[in-house]
Amino acid sequence: MERTYIMLKPETVKRGLMGEIISRIERKQFKITSMKMMILDEPILREHYAHIADKPFFPEIVANMTSGPVVAMIVEGEDVVQGMRNIMGPTKWLEAPAGTIRGDFANNTGMNLIHGSDSVENAEIEIKRFFGNV
Ligand code: UDP
Ligand code: MG
Repeated sequence: MERTYIMLKPETVKRGLMGEIISRIERKQFKITSMKMMILDEPILREHYAHIADKPFFPEIVANMTSGPVVAMIVEGEDVVQGMRNIMGPTKWLEAPAGTIRGDFANNTGMNLIHGSDSVENAEIEIKRFFGNV
């Protein structure tokens, strides 16, 4: 069974949208097999977001992502990596169609509510980063 790393960003917790988003994952019949709240620091974000760490908007991402707890999850299911990307919607909020999490609730790309791994290989790396060897 495939698995992916999902993370609800701090704005999701602050806006009271955890339940809404977890409900969408469950309604899709994906299985949440691990879940914890945690506070991130800059070093782990530099690692997790290495591909955007040199972008001008990165300091803003760090400020946002360290502004409160995130909810880290391992989610399992058939083709769950792409499946979760589909229910999340595209990165840029303006391109995210209604019916997706980002399309329905985000109006800012830096605060687009949810992280999901972009490949099966990265999912395993990210699960290890945030949950260790599980
Ligand atoms: N991001 C941003 N502006 C951009 C690209 C990315 O603010 O032009 C932020 C956004 O919050 C995104 C995160 O950086 O979720 C990581 O970028 P990535 O390209 O990995 O997007 P994702 O996989 O989250 O859709
Ligand atoms: Mg990404």
